[in-house]
Amino acid sequence: MDVKSFKGGAHVPHYKSFTDNIEIEKMPIPDRVIIPMHQCLGAPCEPLIKVNDRVKVGQKIGDSSEFISSPVHSSVNGVVEKIETLSYCSGEDAKSVIIRVEGEEQDFKPTFKRDPKSMSKEEIINAIHEAGIVGMGGASFPTHVNVNTRQPVEYLILNGAECEPFLTCDHRIMVERADELVAGAEILSSVIGARKCLIGIEVNKPDAIEVLKEKTKDKDLFEIVPLAVKYPQGFKSILIKSTTGKDVKRGARSAEIGCIVRNVGTTVAVYEAVVYGKPLIERIVTVSGPNVPNPGNFMIRMGTSVGHVLEHCGVTDYNNSTVILGGPMTGRAQDSMKAPVVKNSTGVLLLPTEIVRASEPYENCVRCGKCVERCPMRLYPNQLSIFAETENYEELEAWNVMDCMECGICVYSCPSNRPILEFIRHVKPTVKKMELIRRKK
Ligand code: SF4
Ligand code: SF4
Repeated sequence: MDVKSFKGGAHVPHYKSFTDNIEIEKMPIPDRVIIPMHQCLGAPCEPLIKVNDRVKVGQKIGDSSEFISSPVHSSVNGVVEKIETLSYCSGEDAKSVIIRVEGEEQDFKPTFKRDPKSMSKEEIINAIHEAGIVGMGGASFPTHVNVNTRQPVEYLILNGAECEPFLTCDHRIMVERADELVAGAEILSSVIGARKCLIGIEVNKPDAIEVLKEKTKDKDLFEIVPLAVKYPQGFKSILIKSTTGKDVKRGARSAEIGCIVRNVGTTVAVYEAVVYGKPLIERIVTVSGPNVPNPGNFMIRMGTSVGHVLEHCGVTDYNNSTVILGGPMTGRAQDSMKAPVVKNSTGVLLLPTEIVRASEPYENCVRCGKCVERCPMRLYPNQLSIFAETENYEELEAWNVMDCMECGICVYSCPSNRPILEFIRHVKPTVKKMELIRRKK
């Protein structure tokens, strides 16, 4: 088997055996959901409803007139209890709608079934937009913007790498929902005019490779690309390089080199949006960690609190544990059990605090060079962390801080436990503003 890899990165422990063989299960709906109005990499939405309004599952409750934005929908039938601004661990404040769940019947019931082949490109893009589909692997970029490209696109690349430890939701999607995945990929390929759809899968998911090879064996469009098990294989520019050999230049969009990447979960959501008009009201989430008595992969309604999720999985004791929303490398430690599952929540993890090193004090850089050796973007994370600590924005820009794709492998490698990624995330918005101002001059 020809297995593709890349320079840099590291072989991190997988910890996937907690959940990789556990089938997707529906999680019971909580009493209340909290729906943030900002769930995409774009402009936040404004609420379309008011307190005491009755809302239906799948109803659009927030939207924006900005081009790069994505609407949000109620994930339940219920009544709007509050609309308030809440602070989230991403450091962001977002207007949020709190809905009290009412009624026994909570399923989304499609009222039609469309044939994508009978739809125009504009109709398909509009269906994706209206359903609020964003990148569900973490990036949360609006999919209708991503696929609305005038540039010729050669490759649709489906991201089935799932390289972060513990996470297995994409693995289960590929095994259990392969038909919808293939149909979603055909829809996306037709919209962007892709000649080939490459599905990149790390070789630690042999069952997913086998299922998808079987499902696509008579379809010339598809090619399954086995990938080396190495972090951060699933990051966009790495995946493009591994699967096509192409480099994404700094500041360029992947479409400029003829590639569009979509996560496998997003692709299934596209299928449901286009064929059934189903909005993004739920997603599959891995709930895992050595301190979770009943881990698994669950279909969870948006806005469900991490407290509800962990309680359902048998957690009663939070002592010496840290809750993480997302994966252990790129996710965020949560300080409130009310934090909601949102469109890009790949995991809810409960990890022993001693292995979540963020809480430990950090030391000066000892110049071991491990972070430089492993940075897949060939940056100097050691230098960046020092410049970020001292807020030296000119040097940060000169040392290409904006190229950092926030994989976190430098933090994982650092013997001084330096919070390099935290530093970088803190300074990036200022450097971005500086770049924009300069471009306008
Ligand atoms: S500097 Fe950025 S891209 Fe490089 S290893 Fe650290 S987080 Fe990853
Ligand atoms: S890994 Fe840590 S200690 Fe080593 S060079 Fe990088 S920042 Fe410095």
